[in-house]
Amino acid sequence: MNAGSCPHIDTVVEVKLPEVLECEECVKIGAGWVHLRTCQTCGVTLCCDSSPNKHATKHAHATEHPVIASAQPGECWLYCYPDDAFVQY
Ligand SMILES: [Zn+2]
Ligand SMILES: [Zn+2]
Ligand SMILES: [Zn+2]
Repeated sequence: MNAGSCPHIDTVVEVKLPEVLECEECVKIGAGWVHLRTCQTCGVTLCCDSSPNKHATKHAHATEHPVIASAQPGECWLYCYPDDAFVQY
């Protein structure tokens, strides 16, 4: 996929999407979430920045996995943290 100056989104050939629509980390602690994102490096599905625990962003910073996809049904986009790049597909 082509996102201009972002080399990370370029490497995404097939977008990873969740098998189960839930945040793994929120489920463990009994928390709730707003929207879900799927890491394109390891495939984990976590919650967005509108959610109280912001697990997707925490995961990206902790692991340096740069790219997430929206896991919301009907939303087709990728986002790269280090480049702040956004692309719809
Ligand atoms: Zn990038
Ligand atoms: Zn979460
Ligand atoms: Zn990851």
